[in-house]
Amino acid sequence: MTREIPLSAPWIDGREEELVVETLRSGRLSLGPMVDRFEAAFAEQVGAPCVAAVSSGTAGLHLCMRLAGIGPGDEVVTTPFSFVASANCVLYEGATPVFADVDPGTLNLDPAAVEAAVTPKTKAILAVHIFGYAAELRELEAIAERHGLAIVEDACEALGAEYRGRPVGSSGHPAVFAFYPNKQMTTGEGGAVAVATEEEWALLKSLSNQGRSDSGEWLTHARLGYNYRLDDLSAALGLAQLERLDEILAARVEVAARYGELLASLAGVEAPLPDDEEHRRSWFVYVVRLAPGIDRNGVMARLAAEGVASKPYLPSIHLQPYYRERFGYREGTLPVSEDASARSLALPFHARLPAEDQERVVDALRRALT
Ligand SMILES: *Cc1c(COP(=O)(O)O)cnc(C)c1O
Repeated sequence: MTREIPLSAPWIDGREEELVVETLRSGRLSLGPMVDRFEAAFAEQVGAPCVAAVSSGTAGLHLCMRLAGIGPGDEVVTTPFSFVASANCVLYEGATPVFADVDPGTLNLDPAAVEAAVTPKTKAILAVHIFGYAAELRELEAIAERHGLAIVEDACEALGAEYRGRPVGSSGHPAVFAFYPNKQMTTGEGGAVAVATEEEWALLKSLSNQGRSDSGEWLTHARLGYNYRLDDLSAALGLAQLERLDEILAARVEVAARYGELLASLAGVEAPLPDDEEHRRSWFVYVVRLAPGIDRNGVMARLAAEGVASKPYLPSIHLQPYYRERFGYREGTLPVSEDASARSLALPFHARLPAEDQERVVDALRRALT
């Protein structure tokens, strides 16, 4: 049987082992110095004044809803073409996600659709930088300003991406990053929120630590909080990954470029949108779009038979069973997102995917399409 080529894999090296073991031996496994070091290094990486580490990207998104004051009766305009967490966080606070359709090229929120979705109840825009390609922040900011809305960025797939020459995370809006093992860098589970002010940072730290006040009293709880802390073992792993992030991101660029070359001659397969002056993608996944009419399930089955993992990526959130049931969504509501969901296919992609494996993937795909 041929060796299976997985969809993703983290890149863990000696430095990760070193820092994790050092932390284990220190005995400071939570609320210790590694989290502080990780937050400082991450802030520097994304060009943000302050960063609060949290236990997951989802936890970070939830806290950003609290930060923006989102509550029952409020609406948050967001994208249907994302991982489900970017809409669920709105529901956690009793508010309603209102989906605006995406641009067929970038697969990010279409500003015109966002404008059309704003109502008197709208309180915020939650933009997702999908597949590591920055959303149209300038246009979204103009809309937010006109209507007095907050902006929250889901940057969970976009560590290392740039928008108009600046790193994603440095815009001044709260931006959430995630470190599940398939992301650009990992802490096992984990996340981080980049913010512009120390006040926002202090509130995030309190909310993620059971609502404790900064008086330092362990059993004084000033607000409704959560246990969304990142532990020090995870932070140590993250710190080692951050030290090597440039190397990891560069390797991903190379793997993506090689796919681009290999796929160029393959009819019926559309590669991801290339960079332009305003957008520099950070490669999170390698998602191609199959031409209309191609039987995606058949292609996936044939790839699987050759030991090549692949996945439809991503299903539109509004058509998830929970959202259909709760809000009555049906096919045809958000046609651009639905079309992308129906035709997209994630291929195996990670920093150390060997060139031979990429050739195997593309050869298998060629056979699957004929
Ligand atoms: C990964 C991801 C999240 C959630 O991150 P977790 O750390 O798994 O909670 C949220 N939004 C997007 C777009 C993601 O890709």
